[in-house]
Amino acid sequence: AGTNERHWLDELNEQQRAAATHRGGPLLILAGAGTGKTTTLCTRVAWLVSEGIPSERILLLTFTRRAAREMLQRARALVPGSSRVLGGTFHSVAHRLVRRHASALGLPPGFGVLDAGDAADVLDLLRVEAGHGSARGSRFPKKGTLLDLYSRTVNAQAPLSGVIAEHFPWVDEHREAISALFREYTVRKRELGVIDLDDLLLMWRALARDEVIGPRLASSFDHVLIDEYQDVNGLQVDLARALGGYGCEVTAVGDDFQAIYGFRSASAAHILDFPSHFEGTRVVTLEHNYRSTQPVLDAANAVAAQASRAFPKRLRADRPGGVRPRVVWLRDEGAQAEEVASRVLEARENGSDLRSQAVLMRTSHDSDLLELELHRRRIPFVKYGGLKYLEAAHVKDFVALLRLADNGADDIAWFRVLQLVEGLGPASARKAIGLMAGAEPADPEAELEEGAASFRRGLSASAREEAGEGRLAAVPDRLAEWYTARQVIPERARASADELVAALIVARDEQRPGVRAEALRDVLAPLVKARYPDGAVRVEDLDQLVAAAHQANDPRHFVAELVLDPPQSSADLAQPPHLDEDYLTISTIHSAKGLEWDHVHVLAVYDGNFPACMSAGTSEQIDEERRLLYVAMTRARRTLSMYVPVRYHHRPRGIDDAHGYGKASRFLTDEVLGCCDVTRLPDDPLNPRGAPVVTARRLSVSPDALFD
Ligand code: ATP
Ligand code: MG
Repeated sequence: AGTNERHWLDELNEQQRAAATHRGGPLLILAGAGTGKTTTLCTRVAWLVSEGIPSERILLLTFTRRAAREMLQRARALVPGSSRVLGGTFHSVAHRLVRRHASALGLPPGFGVLDAGDAADVLDLLRVEAGHGSARGSRFPKKGTLLDLYSRTVNAQAPLSGVIAEHFPWVDEHREAISALFREYTVRKRELGVIDLDDLLLMWRALARDEVIGPRLASSFDHVLIDEYQDVNGLQVDLARALGGYGCEVTAVGDDFQAIYGFRSASAAHILDFPSHFEGTRVVTLEHNYRSTQPVLDAANAVAAQASRAFPKRLRADRPGGVRPRVVWLRDEGAQAEEVASRVLEARENGSDLRSQAVLMRTSHDSDLLELELHRRRIPFVKYGGLKYLEAAHVKDFVALLRLADNGADDIAWFRVLQLVEGLGPASARKAIGLMAGAEPADPEAELEEGAASFRRGLSASAREEAGEGRLAAVPDRLAEWYTARQVIPERARASADELVAALIVARDEQRPGVRAEALRDVLAPLVKARYPDGAVRVEDLDQLVAAAHQANDPRHFVAELVLDPPQSSADLAQPPHLDEDYLTISTIHSAKGLEWDHVHVLAVYDGNFPACMSAGTSEQIDEERRLLYVAMTRARRTLSMYVPVRYHHRPRGIDDAHGYGKASRFLTDEVLGCCDVTRLPDDPLNPRGAPVVTARRLSVSPDALFD
């Protein structure tokens, strides 16, 4: 196409156009929120294709699959050929490459990918095996901490001792045991024929650095473009550099002031180091904010200006006018829920449909009461972030069944699936796996320990030899032997185990992912209905997965994609009719980055939440918390409201349902409030001055003492 046909380039301003059409060498767009970085990147993809670069030689890396899909849709609207551009997250691209090179990496062809929950379970198993689990009150770190520590170490590519000293000083006394456990974890995954999410990046890097494979990999792309570069971690930087090292041209865009993934070892330093990592980088900055109006940006700038690190990028609005943000003090979270729901309805009456509005929050619990209120007023909403859709037990069970249909040797999946059988808990599931592998438990008294030991044998390499099909077929018999020997499993449990296995065998012999998923859904649905009071709703989740499976081509790839880039809500999987409906978005701020809405409500802006108590330690942590609020504020196109419930639920783990009385976030300084319309508490007869009087003191009204 000739330049004169590319009228879409005229929609960009001069700097954006220069970036979109840059040629020869690395490019970094380092610019503030809403300045059109993502827009420019989409246009650049289209421009490259229009310049004749084959679309399959362009790689677009984004933070979520949804982002990649949307960006490629936008590029395709400009230049149809752009639809064949390869787009996805670092993890999903890594998975493609690792699959292609599985044998070079020593992986079996049907290797499975553990999600974070599975990885934590394997670590937990090793912890118990190593004898760190049994003693009550043992201070040995639990599985969540272990996984966090492991993942941070790998992703930051930093020595374990350093990561412990910096982030987990209280586990230092166990450092050697932890290090041994992590080594064992590597061995065990290899025996199991599985890898975890971190391994995907490590393996991609190993491929990229290989003398033979590396150059071939890099030479398959002419361009790699990366959005949200401020949130990459050390491993991802290595990957970008490896690609760039072989002549593939790298374009990165991001805003160091929106870095909010430090807790996952990302570092804004990487984006600032980009020019030194990539020689000859052209740095483009963008000045105009096209998203918000100036009053919103004034408040956001005032939040940013408090940062301990200099903030040179004051945002300037391109659009005129606008209204000042609102800061509203409320008595409690119930009042907050009512206020937000009313405002949402009011905006809808004034012509803003629900899709143009969002409620943002720090953690997914912040919306508990609001969700009830929305139900009550029949306001449809979709929630993003927080407890991921795939982490819900019934969905995990379904995914485990799908994985087993691929690979009968996946004992992590067996562990879940066996627990669907009536009467089988975790300990018996472990034992059953041991028995299925032919290991006979010796001492019925030592149930738990034996369970762990036989689980380990069940997972051993020799057991995997007869893995796959033979194994799956042998399961009913093995289980039967076990029932007989034990006489603990009633007949109806036997029947439910048989049904599960029969469905698995049907699914295994079926190659169409949709039909396969249907067979497994049919056996799971009655169990789900029987197990949960809201079973019918949960079965709808299964149906959406089935519908998504019908659209996939390859069953293995379908399951892997689910693990690699989990849908954040059932809406991500939904069919178009559902998406046509109007609904409000409720989202964690982390899941809202890069997005925008006309009307944005930020919940629970009190101290203890912004910053969170747990993250109020170092000034770097506090800065990250400040950036989080900044990201939330800069999502707003027209109106921004922030709420401070004075009485709120305290939900740190371990304290149930205590109330706190709080102050507004320390980030709402006088300068910030000076940019806002502030509504103080309306007069409360119980608290006439409207000021919080008690600070986090709990009055005991529990009758427990009576029961001694
Ligand atoms: P973030 O930092 O939040 O990811 P961003 O820099 O990626 O923001 P975009 O999402 O690309 O910004 O753009 C923000 C808004 O500005 C979008 O609605 C986009 O359509 C609009 N926009 C971008 N560039 C222009 C332009 N040159 N003229 C008019 N509108 C623009
Ligand atoms: Mg963006």
